[in-house]
Amino acid sequence: MKEKIKDSELMEKIISLCKRRGFVYPSSEIYGGFAGVYDYGHYGILLKENIKNAWLRDMVQLREDVFGLDSAIFMHPKTWIASGHVGGFQDPQVDCKQCKARFRADHILEGFGVVADKMPLDFLNTELDKLRALGKLVCSNCGSKDLTSARAFSLMVKSNLGSPVDALTEENVTYLRPETCGGIYLEYKNTLDSLHPKLPFGIAQVGKAFRNEIAARQFIFRTREFEQMEMQYFHAPTETKKLYEMWQNTRWQWYLEYGIPVEKLRWYKHEKLAHYASEAYDIEYSFGFFGNSFKEVEGIHARGDWDLSQHAKFSGQTLDYFDEETKQRFIPHILETSVGLGRLFLMFLDQAYTEDGEGDDKRVFLKLNPRLAPVKVAVFPLLKNKPNLVAKAREIFSALRQEFVCEFDDNGNVGKRYRRQDEIGTPYCVTVDFDTVEKDDMVTVRDRDTGAQERIAVKELVSYLKTKLT
Ligand code: ATP
Repeated sequence: MKEKIKDSELMEKIISLCKRRGFVYPSSEIYGGFAGVYDYGHYGILLKENIKNAWLRDMVQLREDVFGLDSAIFMHPKTWIASGHVGGFQDPQVDCKQCKARFRADHILEGFGVVADKMPLDFLNTELDKLRALGKLVCSNCGSKDLTSARAFSLMVKSNLGSPVDALTEENVTYLRPETCGGIYLEYKNTLDSLHPKLPFGIAQVGKAFRNEIAARQFIFRTREFEQMEMQYFHAPTETKKLYEMWQNTRWQWYLEYGIPVEKLRWYKHEKLAHYASEAYDIEYSFGFFGNSFKEVEGIHARGDWDLSQHAKFSGQTLDYFDEETKQRFIPHILETSVGLGRLFLMFLDQAYTEDGEGDDKRVFLKLNPRLAPVKVAVFPLLKNKPNLVAKAREIFSALRQEFVCEFDDNGNVGKRYRRQDEIGTPYCVTVDFDTVEKDDMVTVRDRDTGAQERIAVKELVSYLKTKLT
């Protein structure tokens, strides 16, 4: 039975497990750390790759209307002027004058139930002043009431690529991309000219994005360097409503398919839309990590023809589409699905983290969907000092690793080896014992979630595991 874990404990437990078992490390730790940046270790990259591949499978491999892309992080400086990011991609910053801690004004206000997402500075400052007058505006770090008003803080991360620092002007600053979709808009024309798709079609990509986040204090939920998985779906404006619903449904089902219970998901409708947008919903997940509060994992937005129109205007290129059937020429409209890979990583860990048993029997296991688990199978010889058991286990391990990510472990007793694999979410453990080598050429396969054990013939093992793991 799942033990009740106090919310405050879950955050500590997940962060500690991530570091202890090589999933996620704080960046630059030997130099005292580097805020808002994390490194992924061995099991971290395996889990991350599996999540990414699960997304690519559903978004590209299983579709005929979506194509892949890997655009560069650096793009022409005009890209971000055209998109409105230069000068416009800002968050409202509030500072504590005592301890210098920084906060986002909208997040402070949301803590008091005020809907403040994407609201203008005037509105935020009026609301902050109301709290100040009531003595409720307090620094959550040091308790001081001496907080500044909100001011705009640019999230754009500058580089000096190609330009000497002293020759940088607003026109030639090369930014590290704040979102991956910028590259998709710029490759719309090449995709059209090379692959000749008909509308509607999408372009999907996974890649790094960089934002100078004001307060990146929530482990990998909000970081300054992160990966996004974004898809832009180009279509005729008359189709927006129908296609928007299709993408909402497609993305919602993806979460259910990979083991997120429906009661932990909800839609959040944005009331305050960008001037060009016609619809914006987020998929939110209830993070035990954050005291069961619902937080955004993915955004699904109807962006109109804003992006291509802006890039057409700033580049001087024609970015329209000629519809052979209707004989009409127009700039395609765009639907976007945008999700953070690190945020999904945290969501899946949050959902999977399980404890059961008491005292010496207590165990921690990650109940990850087998398709996402970093290691699929672990192989053990019952005893380390019996060469025939070790040789047979090694032989099985060599065969299985051709098919799955596998581990070999002969350290400590079998119970301890189970515990180690449970903690990293390995769905199946295979043990070679005396009967395997002396009698029946069968092994014991133990299931992570139920602890149930089955005897399986070695020659059946690959197909047995394949069925279980897919
Ligand atoms: P927020 O309101 O949380 O700052 P946002 O609405 O600005 O996020 P988008 O620009 O819509 O986020 O980005 C799309 C997705 O990218 C988000 O749903 C999230 O999963 C991910 N994401 C955005 N910023 C970060 C970040 N700093 N760290 C990790 N993931 C992020």
